[in-house]
Amino acid sequence: MNKRLYDDNLYRFDTPQRSYWEATAADIGVNAPPLAGDDDCDVAIIGGGYTGLSAALHLARDHSIDVRVLEAGHFGWGASGRNGGFCSMGGTGLQRKDLVKMVGLDNAREFFRSQVEGVELVREIAASEGIEFQAFGSAELEVAHLAKAFDGLTEDHHLLTSKLGISAELFSAGECRERFFDSSEQFGALMTRPTFGLHPLRYCRGLANAAIRRGAVLHEHSEVLSWQKADDGSHRISTAGGTLRARRIVYSTNGFMPETLRPEFYARTLPVISAIIVTRPLSESEKAAHSWVTEHPSINSRRVLNYFRLLPDGRFMFGGRGHSTGHPDGEAETYRRLESMLKKIWPEWSKVDIDYRWHGLICMTGSMVPSIGQLDDDGSVYFGYGYHGNGVNTATWTGKQLADWIGSGGMPAMPEIVHGMARKFPLAPLRLKYLRAGIAFSSWRDRRS
Ligand SMILES: Cc1cc2nc3c(=O)[nH]c(=O)nc-3n(C[C@H](O)[C@H](O)[C@H](O)COP(=O)(O)OP(=O)(O)OC[C@H]3O[C@@H](n4cnc5c(N)ncnc54)[C@H](O)[C@@H]3O)c2cc1C
Repeated sequence: MNKRLYDDNLYRFDTPQRSYWEATAADIGVNAPPLAGDDDCDVAIIGGGYTGLSAALHLARDHSIDVRVLEAGHFGWGASGRNGGFCSMGGTGLQRKDLVKMVGLDNAREFFRSQVEGVELVREIAASEGIEFQAFGSAELEVAHLAKAFDGLTEDHHLLTSKLGISAELFSAGECRERFFDSSEQFGALMTRPTFGLHPLRYCRGLANAAIRRGAVLHEHSEVLSWQKADDGSHRISTAGGTLRARRIVYSTNGFMPETLRPEFYARTLPVISAIIVTRPLSESEKAAHSWVTEHPSINSRRVLNYFRLLPDGRFMFGGRGHSTGHPDGEAETYRRLESMLKKIWPEWSKVDIDYRWHGLICMTGSMVPSIGQLDDDGSVYFGYGYHGNGVNTATWTGKQLADWIGSGGMPAMPEIVHGMARKFPLAPLRLKYLRAGIAFSSWRDRRS
């Protein structure tokens, strides 16, 4: 097994998560036999989530390039099959105002434009490729969990609408209760568009099947164990079952990136565990007890935030920070904590059973923004990663940028701030220790406020 940051338990590629998504997407198969023997192709993609599959679809469909995808698990094994299904704007690890401070207003506006493009691209792909991913809701709510948090939302509303070109609306606590929902932590909300909810695994498998239909060849259960450059300039990537020779590589393993497969990528990422629980379907009276009438996906204003949404079958999904090691004992504790938060925020649901629990890795970078590019010392290697828990649109968009780059031979116009390799994390072996310290400090500030 390739060396990785967390407990081995997080990298069992042969074991699907026991998620709601896995339980409700079983009808969509993907014909992707493991790599067997020796073969070659023009572009080999390592990692079959949204980044790799979007790249494969666009390379095959729009540029007629001979492309293969190697995925260590089944398609949708990674974050792309187990996320919250928010097709929303984000992509960085920064507050909006801090992003503007860091990169300037013009760069931030350009980045936000690309985020909107990403959301629209997901819808376009679904329409053009016939992917049915159960779209639900048409905006995102950011809910003030404290009265004073509403001031921050008001500032953001101004920044979004007057400076960043994003459609947003503010709602008082009373308006929010009437139009969306109520809870013990509801003090008004900021609504942004375009955002919607979807079934992430249906989307991922739909992308995989679209890529196959358009001519890409996909291999599941094909973990790349070694990657070498041959004297003729081609890449040799090997799995347990075979070797693929390729002229170019797209490296798209994001939060599950092996630490040592290729030295240039060492310590470029900081994966963070995020976890989700899903209740049994709520009855109409249970929904009414918290005035729940919205389909919009929502987040709260905590520093260590929670994300939640009603699902089309009436179940309620609630997600947040996962454990810091990935060890099974810690996971159980995470799920207990999430359940107790959910039931504190919506006390009328305190007797509702939890039917599903799962977790996965989101990916942060040292630059706090996504990283998209080509290796400086080897122009035949392309990469895209680091979406800070907002990859449904960003990873899909990134895959298209990489495909257009390879297909046209020139870098497409993209926001300056996402271009190039993210800086290396200092004191790399201590990454998880400082992540733990950072989360503990933010959680303490949440508790104090
Ligand atoms: C619990 C959770 C909730 C989230 N919620 C949201 C949300 O609501 N909205 C949103 O926009 N984003 C969300 N995200 C983030 C989003 O899912 C990711 O940003 C996105 O899926 C990244 O796509 P990707 O293709 O880059 O990576 P992944 O989907 O993780 O795919 C990478 C793949 O690489 C494979 N791989 C790794 N090593 C190798 C190897 N050596 N050989 C071959 N394959 C390999 C892995 O098996 C994996 O399938 C969430 C993530 C998690 C974990």
